[in-house]
Amino acid sequence: MNSHLCNRCGSCVGLSEGKIRFRDKTGTYTPEILHPIDDQLADTLLEACSGKNFNFPEYQKKIYPEASHFHTFIGTYERIGIGFAKNSEIRSKGASGGIISSVLVWLLDHKLIDGAVVLGMDENEPWLTQAFIATTREEILKAAQSKYIISSTNDILPEIAAFKGNLAYVGLPGQVQSIRKLQQIGHPSVQNIKYIFGPFYGNTLHFSSIKSFLKTYKADSYENITKLYFRYGEWPGNMRIELKSGRIIELKKFHANYLIPFHILRNSLYCTDFANEFTDLSGGDAWAPVYEERGKGFSMIISRSAKGDEILSQMVADGTISFSQIEENEAIDMHSHGYDFKKRGSFIRIRFRKWLGKSIPDYGYEIKGFPFSRYVMELIISTMFIILSTNMARWTIEQFSPRFVGNLFEKTRTLWKKSTHKIKRNEL
Ligand SMILES: Cc1cc2nc3c(=O)[nH]c(=O)nc-3n(C[C@H](O)[C@H](O)[C@H](O)COP(=O)(O)OP(=O)(O)OC[C@H]3O[C@@H](n4cnc5c(N)ncnc54)[C@H](O)[C@@H]3O)c2cc1C
Repeated sequence: MNSHLCNRCGSCVGLSEGKIRFRDKTGTYTPEILHPIDDQLADTLLEACSGKNFNFPEYQKKIYPEASHFHTFIGTYERIGIGFAKNSEIRSKGASGGIISSVLVWLLDHKLIDGAVVLGMDENEPWLTQAFIATTREEILKAAQSKYIISSTNDILPEIAAFKGNLAYVGLPGQVQSIRKLQQIGHPSVQNIKYIFGPFYGNTLHFSSIKSFLKTYKADSYENITKLYFRYGEWPGNMRIELKSGRIIELKKFHANYLIPFHILRNSLYCTDFANEFTDLSGGDAWAPVYEERGKGFSMIISRSAKGDEILSQMVADGTISFSQIEENEAIDMHSHGYDFKKRGSFIRIRFRKWLGKSIPDYGYEIKGFPFSRYVMELIISTMFIILSTNMARWTIEQFSPRFVGNLFEKTRTLWKKSTHKIKRNEL
């Protein structure tokens, strides 16, 4: 709980019968023990914790015993493709192609589920996220789009347990892994979950990113936020904040990415699951110039389980979604940066932690044998993350206009990507 291994999935809070809660959600967002926990509960909490350990090979075999394909980067899968929701409302409301929301609406319409665990914005504190069970199409769409601040979906495990009916569940890799661990031990809190979906996952940011963003615009305190979006408008969308005063602040998503090195949740650096490998279906942005130029929204979709693939087939057959299959190599190429970050960077960073005598996660597998140049590159990246997350660095960046910083960030990132292209692609 008190190390960088906590991914804030929320399971310990959800399972604790009120004995643990998240403290300081606009600050460190850490679990805090309020009342003594007996040994039996402590054992369950440790068992459910995906930050401490999650055995990838073991769960791959257990969850997908008859999988057609496997790649160490992508995980187990049936098909990979590029697609989007054909319903224009769902597509435009989604983060990329609206695929995840479309799947949830389709399952609800076909009465295969009675509700979906999704992540919306809090009604009373609209600057914070809040997981809830959506039981209508409107509620599913209200929760569409990616939220890039720390969110602890699994803290609603008691509501999930009490729900009468079948559920679909949407979560980030760490959250999904914890649900899988609970399913494995047959925990009653997850017995209603019939389908698991989730977005790809690069990183999450601390709430300080929002505070800093507002400061840069010389805007009111976050408590005056009435609406907060991370992917507003046409794909790839804008970060947008609406304030009580009526003021609206908007910045291109790619420019708002400048916040990442200053506010990244450390655990994002030790997570090795980019493509949400333990879902039935997972989706990411189809980052490629050919799609980006067209706007509108394109997703990469990966069907993993037989039931996930069946849903995909039926949705394509009845015209709910568009789907063009692609090959593994093309998929890796499209997200080479993400895979390098998670499947090489994370393992090197974990090794750095080990050398420093710090606790490390056990994922049951390790990728090694990277070129020396990749270690050097990682040393630069890790040092940069440490320096840029200091108050001094954050204050300095707040003195510049976000448009300028965003532009500079995008240019520097492109240059960095180009100059490290060879190192990153080497034997990828
Ligand atoms: C923190 C984060 C980091 C990401 N990083 C990458 C990346 O590096 N590369 C990439 O290609 N794609 C990334 N994605 C995925 C991408 O942003 C889209 O979510 C994905 O393409 C699915 O789009 P969609 O239109 O199908 O989803 P939508 O139809 O918009 O549905 C998204 C679903 O995810 C749920 N959701 C949103 N945010 C969260 C969250 N923080 N925790 C739990 N559930 C959530 C919503 O409630 C909704 O049900 C990231 C997403 C998140 C949330």
